[in-house]
Amino acid sequence: MSKQVRVRFAPSPTGPLHIGGVRTALFNYLFAKKHGGVFYLRIEDTDQNRFVPGAEEYIMEALEWLGIAPSETVGRNEKFGPYRQSERKDLYKQYADQLITYGNAYYAFDTPEALDNLRKEYEAEGKTFIYNWSNREKLDTSLVISKEETDKRIAAGEHYVVRFKTPVDETLHLQDIIRGDIKFETNLLDDKVLFKSDGMPTYHLANIVDDHLMETSHVIRGEEWLPSMPLHVLLYRSFGWDAPEFAHLPLILKPIGNGKLSKRDGDKMGFPVFPLEWKTEEGISSGYRENGFFPEAVVNFLALLGWNDGTDQELFSLEELAEKFDLNRVHKAGAKFDPEKNKWFNHQYLQKQSDEDLAKAFAPIVYEKGIDVDYTTLVRIVSSIKERANFVSDFWELADYFFVAPTSYDEKAAKNWKEETPNLMQQLISVLENVGEFTSLNIETIVKDWMTKNEIGMGKVMQPFRLSLVGALKGPHLFDIVELIGKEETIKRLEKAIASL
Ligand code: GLU
Repeated sequence: MSKQVRVRFAPSPTGPLHIGGVRTALFNYLFAKKHGGVFYLRIEDTDQNRFVPGAEEYIMEALEWLGIAPSETVGRNEKFGPYRQSERKDLYKQYADQLITYGNAYYAFDTPEALDNLRKEYEAEGKTFIYNWSNREKLDTSLVISKEETDKRIAAGEHYVVRFKTPVDETLHLQDIIRGDIKFETNLLDDKVLFKSDGMPTYHLANIVDDHLMETSHVIRGEEWLPSMPLHVLLYRSFGWDAPEFAHLPLILKPIGNGKLSKRDGDKMGFPVFPLEWKTEEGISSGYRENGFFPEAVVNFLALLGWNDGTDQELFSLEELAEKFDLNRVHKAGAKFDPEKNKWFNHQYLQKQSDEDLAKAFAPIVYEKGIDVDYTTLVRIVSSIKERANFVSDFWELADYFFVAPTSYDEKAAKNWKEETPNLMQQLISVLENVGEFTSLNIETIVKDWMTKNEIGMGKVMQPFRLSLVGALKGPHLFDIVELIGKEETIKRLEKAIASL
């Protein structure tokens, strides 16, 4: 790659960032890292009607949380700033003017009512109204009146828009890194609005001008923008600028059925589609962060939505992804979103955390229940159960018996409680009372010695013993539990079981 790689994520701050947007940001980030380039964030807020307070902060916070923050953006290395389009407002008009001067755009004075009527007329004839080459010379535009008249109407404050004058009868052969050669017929395009009389550019004009001025080398964005590609390429051509390279990422599809993943799918199936929680008056949309996902797990599963490195490897650190990422290996076909697989990723990343860190995350949950436990014990408890957890929030259910005695006993397991069991448990209590050093290994040795000497079968003791301590036949190595619960509590639970089973 000859020129400096500069890629951008260019969201419109219209609400929380959908997971698809996050994937776009991630692929841009990885591409920049891979090529020693720059990943920047530009806020596309020219449509003031759709502006949502807090959305911009949300986007930034989400990228920070995921560890894929841009190196240039609002308030950070503003080399080509401002990075908020609303603050670049005064810049765009000259470009609209330039297009008009060279005959690549024109003023259209049609009122919204006039356009509405046209639409209805077309509909009545079973046709769809498209503002384009076929009718622009018959509509109220600067193409059919003199320059003097045009200037007069604008000076008089008449409502207008600037539209792109799409060239006629051309077949465009465009290149997309992911999709290859794509053909577009210009006659099928409409003359898109580029600028409005309120002084604001539309997305198309602002996007192209800024990608040029900010020296964007590659435009990597969602497939939903593919239909805009011919207009964008034509705009670059009209300005006499080199177009960046394009890569349109595949859609993220629903877990079940067809179509694009939506927030509704998440609500229905109980998984988030946003990186962070988003609160509005209408309610709360849940986020991956608040649901206990590790940012590394989210990055990892998003990276595999539409890309793989050609091997079976599934676990990648961010650094590894940046090293291996290749736009040429991004698929064209949509990528199915699999919430169960996402949990699997979180499970994997949970196992990679240190027991100390996990204990720190678990501690508030335990303390909130009024339980006093020392940190070292907590670390050991976490270490013994984490293998079965996907989230830190699973810990309590997996480990509650370490902190509180069972209040009931699993019915099926209680069938192992035979007539001779109380007597055996009573003997076990005496054995335990005499254990000096109360460590897992020592307790195990002594208890097993006692069983061997008295020819007591393993199952006769171990299952009722576990049932007494845990309330069910689950959990890690029994003597680890015994040590962690302590001598006094172990005996108490055995006595309770003898009395109630
Ligand atoms: N502002 C557009 C969006 O909301 C940017 C699309 C593009 O990357 O060109 O996604």
